[in-house]
Amino acid sequence: MYDITVVGAGPAGSFCAYLLAKEGFHVALIEKKSFPRKKLCGGGVSYKAVKLLDDIIDITKLKGKALSGSYLSFKNEHLTHVGQNITSYSIEREEFDNELLKAAKDAGVDVIIPHTVVSLEENSREVLIKLEDDSEVKSNFLVLAEGINGKLFERIGYSGNRDITMALEIDVKPKEYPHNFNNNTLFDFGAIPKGYAWIFPKDGYLNVGAYYYRSRNIDRLQERALECFVNQFSWAKEAEIGKINGHALPYSIDYSSYNTNRTLLIGDSAGTVENFYGEGLYYGLQSSRLAEEEITNAIHNNASLDNFTKRLKSEILIQVKFSRITAHLFYPRQKFGYYKMVRNKLMNYYYAELIHGKISQKKCYFYTMASLPISIFSGKLSDRDFKEVGLLK
Ligand SMILES: Cc1cc2nc3c(=O)[nH]c(=O)nc-3n(C[C@H](O)[C@H](O)[C@H](O)COP(=O)(O)OP(=O)(O)OC[C@H]3O[C@@H](n4cnc5c(N)ncnc54)[C@H](O)[C@@H]3O)c2cc1C
Repeated sequence: MYDITVVGAGPAGSFCAYLLAKEGFHVALIEKKSFPRKKLCGGGVSYKAVKLLDDIIDITKLKGKALSGSYLSFKNEHLTHVGQNITSYSIEREEFDNELLKAAKDAGVDVIIPHTVVSLEENSREVLIKLEDDSEVKSNFLVLAEGINGKLFERIGYSGNRDITMALEIDVKPKEYPHNFNNNTLFDFGAIPKGYAWIFPKDGYLNVGAYYYRSRNIDRLQERALECFVNQFSWAKEAEIGKINGHALPYSIDYSSYNTNRTLLIGDSAGTVENFYGEGLYYGLQSSRLAEEEITNAIHNNASLDNFTKRLKSEILIQVKFSRITAHLFYPRQKFGYYKMVRNKLMNYYYAELIHGKISQKKCYFYTMASLPISIFSGKLSDRDFKEVGLLK
């Protein structure tokens, strides 16, 4: 009998299990895949996410790159650059997730892996979980962090709208690594219809991807848009190019409640991914912290878990909602958005503040909307030579 069982050892699940074990609880973490496991992801970890993990992992020791700036482009029509004085990272999810799992284990979590949870049952006294080999795990509370493709949440009657969107990615290993990508990312806001393309630098290769802010599936045209984006670069000509892979992300998960008496939902399962860039790590980790605080309160003070839903909605999902409104306004008008917002110094400043966690999505939305008419006076980021990133005209 555990105090808490967590299902899913992605970042949200492992971080939550770690925090609960640090509070002194007896915690089980169940994961269906053997670790280290692959997870389709750009591996961009914003500064605000790095800060949340300060006590757990030293991100500078992981494989990957510290980022000091971003190239911003509109197709192969325009290129600019913005530096950053606070550092984000480009990591390998396989290693990152494994380090978080190790931290949970070191904190005393019982890791039950690889085991698939096939069913669960909640009653007034406990939660009973069944694994694929018919063994059972009992606990007082349950945290579901099963990702976007999880199905367990349905078993305990969560109801409401659940909508997904898609992202694609491809690994490109150039013969000669383009050195301007050593510490820079690239975000393009014109090559992908109703979405954006990214380039995240990795050790010896580039992770290139496309985020579609509103697309329930992937068709050949979308794959083609990503291929065309890659082929705009001179370094792609003789590169080893991997297979395109796609994966779902939450678009909007709108439940009346994200908890029952003994169970709560966090991470992608609860829709904690912002809709403009598809950043899920930071918001997922935040939801883990919320879950830990509310379960601790429930155990120590015999309180109900209902406060979890209130706080998830008012602290995290409201931010996701504002990112959705921004995406909804921006992506159907990409050219206007790029030239009037992305390239604008003031707008760019607000976005850097957002990525570094100095302002929220909601504030960023109101600041950008209120200052759009006067932003022209702040000037534009300067033009950069296409050769810097190997863009072919
Ligand atoms: C292509 C792509 C690129 C992305 N790029 C970025 C990025 O650069 N930066 C960023 O911040 N976010 C990015 N995201 C979003 C980010 O990957 C997710 O938000 C994040 O992985 C969510 O973490 P999680 O712990 O909620 O779920 P997951 O990481 O999906 O983990 C869920 C875990 O639960 C396990 N599980 C599921 N069901 C069961 C079961 N029944 N029994 C046991 N275990 C189970 C799964 O095996 C999995 O390991 C990207 C997403 C995609 C698709």
